[in-house]
Amino acid sequence: MRYKSCNLIQHGLCFYNEMLVSCCFSPNDQINGGFPPIICKNYHGELIDSDFLFKKIKEYNDVFKNGSCPKECLNCFKIEEKEWNEDHYINSITITHFSACNADCIYCSNNLEKNERTNNSYDILPVLNNLKEQNIIRQGVELHIGGGEFTIYKECDDLIDKFALSGFAKVFVPTNAIRYSDKLHQALVKNTAAIVVSLDAGSRKTYKKIKNVDAFDIVVNNLRKYASGLTEPETISLKYIIIPTINDNYTEFSKFLSFAKKLNIKKVIIDVDARYSRLLNYNIDPYLINFVERIKNESLKRGFITETYSFYSQCSNNSLKDKNIIHDIYSFIRYKILSKKINYLYTSHLYGIKRVD
Ligand code: SF4
Ligand code: SF4
Repeated sequence: MRYKSCNLIQHGLCFYNEMLVSCCFSPNDQINGGFPPIICKNYHGELIDSDFLFKKIKEYNDVFKNGSCPKECLNCFKIEEKEWNEDHYINSITITHFSACNADCIYCSNNLEKNERTNNSYDILPVLNNLKEQNIIRQGVELHIGGGEFTIYKECDDLIDKFALSGFAKVFVPTNAIRYSDKLHQALVKNTAAIVVSLDAGSRKTYKKIKNVDAFDIVVNNLRKYASGLTEPETISLKYIIIPTINDNYTEFSKFLSFAKKLNIKKVIIDVDARYSRLLNYNIDPYLINFVERIKNESLKRGFITETYSFYSQCSNNSLKDKNIIHDIYSFIRYKILSKKINYLYTSHLYGIKRVD
């Protein structure tokens, strides 16, 4: 049957610290301070009952089938119209129930979470093994890692062994690359893992300002190691999150591209700081849209596979508008005023978006 729905509402599971939900993309969660589609509100690593899971999934999906949209999914960019396979399986898992990290980025969403950064959350492996035994997850399932820094997470090596190196899953890992993981490199070579490294800078000075740790040279060295022996060019992506007032300039981005070239990295991802996007309800200033277009074109020109990512892609107005001088001046001023406000959040190390319980 053809209707509007989303893969993650039907076949997605996301492990939060104290909740089991469908995804981590919900505008209701990310913009309104509400919640994403919830499977289980008080969740601490219990084994998952298949009947319970798919009953909950059906409740949400029935709203889509009836031509409506659950409030948790309203305005989500992941909704699409197509023929859906409603069989009972999960093909996308997000693990984001830990938050400890060896960096302290000024844009990190963990900065204002009510929970302290921790790795002392429940064990995920028994839960995933059980989902495998129940045939709820199958060969080819995608494992997306979120939360803190995966390479220092207690189950990192076991997860890579059992899911990536075994060939059962494809594991997508955002990592700051401050700690090198040999197992992760093996999975990259085997093409059963892919990493995204947010370098965000082309110089040690700017990197330190953003990450609050003086590790630019270490990261560059580890990236060199990760990039060796790869067969698939897109296995490593280097990300540039635009942070108003900090790295929103062409010179820094150009240096960033030069590093990527030296490291033989083929793919560049451009995004906008989530806090900036969210403060504007994903309606970002044309001034920044033009900047993104400019650096995107530059990376394409220099031969990189180039992609824009979620907080930019979710913006409702991220296409270039016709040139209008009055509008351009207005948007430039608005951008500068807002940047000041955001800069305060950066310098006082606050995330600036509160979750409503
Ligand atoms: S539509 Fe969006 S919010 Fe709803 S499940 Fe899909 S990704 Fe999540
Ligand atoms: S590397 Fe990731 S988890 Fe760590 S502080 Fe930065 S944004 Fe947060």
